[in-house]
Amino acid sequence: MKIAVAGAGAMGSRVGLYLTQAGQDVVLLDDWQTHIDAVTAHGLKVHTLGETEYHPVSIRSFKDYSMPVDLVIVLTKAMAAEEKIKQLMAQGVITAETNVMSMMNGLGHGDLLRKYIADDKILLAVTMWSAGFNGPGEVTLEGTGNIEFGRMDGTVDDFVKELNAIFDEAQLNGRISEDIVTSIWNKALVNCCFNTYCAVTDKKIGEFGAYPYADDMLIPLMKEIIAVGERKGARLDFDATLNKFHAIYSPEVVGLHYPSMHQDIQNGRKTEVDFLTGRVAKYGREFSIPTPYCDILTHLVHQIEKS
Ligand code: NAD
Repeated sequence: MKIAVAGAGAMGSRVGLYLTQAGQDVVLLDDWQTHIDAVTAHGLKVHTLGETEYHPVSIRSFKDYSMPVDLVIVLTKAMAAEEKIKQLMAQGVITAETNVMSMMNGLGHGDLLRKYIADDKILLAVTMWSAGFNGPGEVTLEGTGNIEFGRMDGTVDDFVKELNAIFDEAQLNGRISEDIVTSIWNKALVNCCFNTYCAVTDKKIGEFGAYPYADDMLIPLMKEIIAVGERKGARLDFDATLNKFHAIYSPEVVGLHYPSMHQDIQNGRKTEVDFLTGRVAKYGREFSIPTPYCDILTHLVHQIEKS
């Protein structure tokens, strides 16, 4: 399959590398010329458990690429996605035959794709893989993960089955979702709560959880997100989610980690907050559901970004 991975950062590199190694015809697309030059010159430098290896992958600049592909996997940051989809359409990379999959974190990517792509070519995905971007040409790929994906309406067509087999071959642990909307909202619940609170409090997930009143902060926020998510068609379980949150504080789970939003702020980069609490607040206004926690957290994160 001819696959373009739009966005060759940490996660795009992980997915693009694994698909390349499984024999697919993959091109990574990016805008950062220093990164493109480093990967082109030496291959992708991958750190795993103290080992470093260089792997050949095909990488090109977005502006220089115009070959039609069967599948585009969007792994830009969420705020860059719309511009890149429009660019790939204008350059003939995305045609009427191209399937387009969002694998980004956050909410609203299905709505965005629907503006440009026919419903039967849209795929949404949630990944539990993680990856770190160390600098131009260089990533850290550790741990394991999976990719849950599907059409927005749950249709399992031949392309979905073929892609599932490709993900398996690439050891990306693909799974066709029975309800991708619910899976996206479940991941967004985690990201809305811990990305924002840990960014604002400058704490690791376990440190945040050790605060005796952490639940007093989490519960009203969770209730807002669940109320809005259910209006968007997700089936969300408050008690199960709160139990899951308590479990992840452990150092053996992710208690010792800063969420990615914290890292973006430390690195002086814009965060994806508008696609997390910001997007819940936007949907809340559409449904007349008050979302004061989402509103204030979105503002606080933007204040920190700007400072
Ligand atoms: P990333 O920051 O590593 O890369 C995103 C883009 O930013 C790439 O095009 C990259 O080249 C560019 N970039 C990175 N640093 C730059 C710099 N200093 N100067 C110029 N350009 C730079 O993002 P990511 O972690 O790959 O995330 C992509 C999507 O995947 C996001 O929606 C994210 O939420 C999601 N995601 C990431 C992970 C993870 O562990 N990294 C896990 C699950 C989902």
